[in-house]
Amino acid sequence: MTISATTVQGGLATLTDEIISELRDRVGCPVLAPEDAGFEAVREVYNAMHPGSPALVVSCAGTADVIDAVSFARDNGLVVAVRGGGHSIAGLSASDDTLLIDLAPMHAVQVDPAARIARVQGGAVWADVDRETQAFGLATPGGVVSDTGVAGLTLGGGYGWLRRQHGLACDHLVSAEVVGADGQVRVASETENADLLWALRGGGGNFGVVTWFTFALEKIGPTVAFAGTFYPVEEAAQVWRGWRNYVEIAPPEITSNTMSVTMPADPALPEAVHNRGCLVVAAVYAGETERGMDVLQPLRELGTPLMDLSQPTPFTAVQQGFDAFFPRNTMQAYWKSRYLSEFSDAAIDFCAAKAAARPSPMTLVNVFHMGGAIADVPPGATAFAQRSSPYLLSIDGNWVDPADNEANIAWVRETFDESARFGNDGVYLNFTGSEKEPADGGVDRAFGENLRRLAEVKAKYDPTNMFRVNNNIRPASG
Ligand code: FAD
Repeated sequence: MTISATTVQGGLATLTDEIISELRDRVGCPVLAPEDAGFEAVREVYNAMHPGSPALVVSCAGTADVIDAVSFARDNGLVVAVRGGGHSIAGLSASDDTLLIDLAPMHAVQVDPAARIARVQGGAVWADVDRETQAFGLATPGGVVSDTGVAGLTLGGGYGWLRRQHGLACDHLVSAEVVGADGQVRVASETENADLLWALRGGGGNFGVVTWFTFALEKIGPTVAFAGTFYPVEEAAQVWRGWRNYVEIAPPEITSNTMSVTMPADPALPEAVHNRGCLVVAAVYAGETERGMDVLQPLRELGTPLMDLSQPTPFTAVQQGFDAFFPRNTMQAYWKSRYLSEFSDAAIDFCAAKAAARPSPMTLVNVFHMGGAIADVPPGATAFAQRSSPYLLSIDGNWVDPADNEANIAWVRETFDESARFGNDGVYLNFTGSEKEPADGGVDRAFGENLRRLAEVKAKYDPTNMFRVNNNIRPASG
């Protein structure tokens, strides 16, 4: 059997049985070729549109396997794709014909409560982190779905329920262990390879394979004040106006998201929401719980509540509260996002009209409130430069039948294009379209003035652009 794999030169290399055996002899973990048992299971990522057909999958058990896999790729001139949690919407961890380094078996989490840090392996998902950190009443800002990978989310920024009080996931990254394109292991911290740490804080998977992340932890929970109120989508314009007026003067303890969705006729849910388009207003208060429930109360009175899940809630349950909307390997997904400088009445009316006209029940029109601790960090202090926008609009197309791909992708693109008049040109690279689309424009806009420095760091740690299956930053030349 021979296999073709993409090379850094841009062509395809033939991997003979002999070469593949050499890789199998080097690593201490499974190496899966397309005909091997287990290969199909690896193709089960979040976005069922992008299962990918990697040339070979190295299911790494530890840092040593990653070193061997990267060294093998370097020796054979191969492009490497890296998988953390497999939640890339664009299919960036499910690329065709690449050597895929799958970190899923590497999901250990070690908490040092005295030092208030957690060491997290590169294939962990947020559920792994929340479980271990909450055992000590601690947390680090993650995402809002517990099955999302720590790696991709953190390397791309990372917005979760604590963002306005404590900042982004990447802001809590204090050090990392990284296997670079040369196969060397480096520590990136404020005192060692500080340029690499700067780049990892938002610059994506461009600089090597992160095998361990070290995060600073905050005291959170075990219970937090949570608001989760479902309003009729027909009231979206009114509800969004009330929400905007509330969040614009909200203290940083409050982080709030809104999204339109059509709820299933699930007997576990009140009939009022069955097959009903809803606008969900959700918020967390990162402070004293009783006071938080009082402060969040107005968010429960913005329209006619069809269902209200607001109550003091275990932090781990909040972190899993939206999981049911996002089953892995089930839906086709195409998402686009843009930052908004304001959520004007005209922008609200636009979003409300789009929320009512979604082509699929699971397609979401989300508006996230930003600011607070995110904006306290200067744009040049980390690679992640988009700090000042008060809102993020994310149009998340999710549907089941591949026959509907064209229509759904077209609707998301059209909505995204039409929303340009409300945006400020910034995009969030963790919520981007598809691997097949040129990422260049998005990368320019996302990194702004940081792009030049990122290209220099890229040239230092990955001069041949071996790690290019990502929101790619090209190495600076000369
Ligand atoms: P993967 O698909 O495994 O990888 C994505 C990218 O990261 C690839 O380019 C890959 O090469 C790189 N990468 C992965 N692991 C490593 C590693 N160890 N070392 C180096 N590079 C690596 N984002 C938010 O900010 N907040 C949210 O609340 C949020 N919710 C989401 C919910 C869902 C259902 C989904 C699908 C996405 C969500 N996202 C959210 C977006 C998410 O941050 C990105 O999709 C992110 O890339 C997922 O990380 P992952 O490790 O699961 O991705």
